[in-house]
Parts: sequence; structure tokens; C-alpha cells
Amino acid sequence: MKRSKRFYVISEKCVGCGACKTICKVHAISKGNPYTINENKCTGCGLCVTRCWRDVITVKQRAAD
Ligand code: SF4
Ligand code: SF4
Repeated sequence: MKRSKRFYVISEKCVGCGACKTICKVHAISKGNPYTINENKCTGCGLCVTRCWRDVITVKQRAAD
């Protein structure tokens, strides 16, 4: 899969509800405290951001390859 220039990260304020993990189609999100996003799997689709009711998921730009 072509890598997006963007990926997402979850901050320490994550409350572990699991909503983002459920919605991620490529299974890039892992359970934890906080939950974490695998940069290499994340396609940058942004779905988890719209799902997170705590608003703790933010976009990052990848370094140029
Ligand atoms: S939806 Fe938000 S608060 Fe819930 S587990 Fe995901 S990042 Fe954490
Ligand atoms: S941006 Fe999309 S691919 Fe990346 S973790 Fe969120 S739902 Fe998954």
C-alpha cells in the first residue's frame, strides 16, 4: 500500500475506550495506556480522529523518505 504523508498519534490523555481501534480498517491501533497507532500501518485516513470523543488523536507529517 502506498504510504500517506500523514499518520496519526494518540496522546497521553487517551482514556482507553477502544472506539478508535474498532473503526480502524487496517488494524493500526493497539490497546494500551494510551492506545497506540502503528505508523507503518496507518494510512492517514482520519477515521479514528472523527471517532475519538476525547479529541486526543492528532495528525503528524512523515519525514521525507
Ligand atoms: S477513541 Fe480516543 S480515548 Fe478512546 S481509545 Fe481511542 S484515542 Fe483513546
Ligand atoms: S488514521 Fe485511519 S488508518 Fe490511521 S489509525 Fe486512524 S483509522 Fe487507522
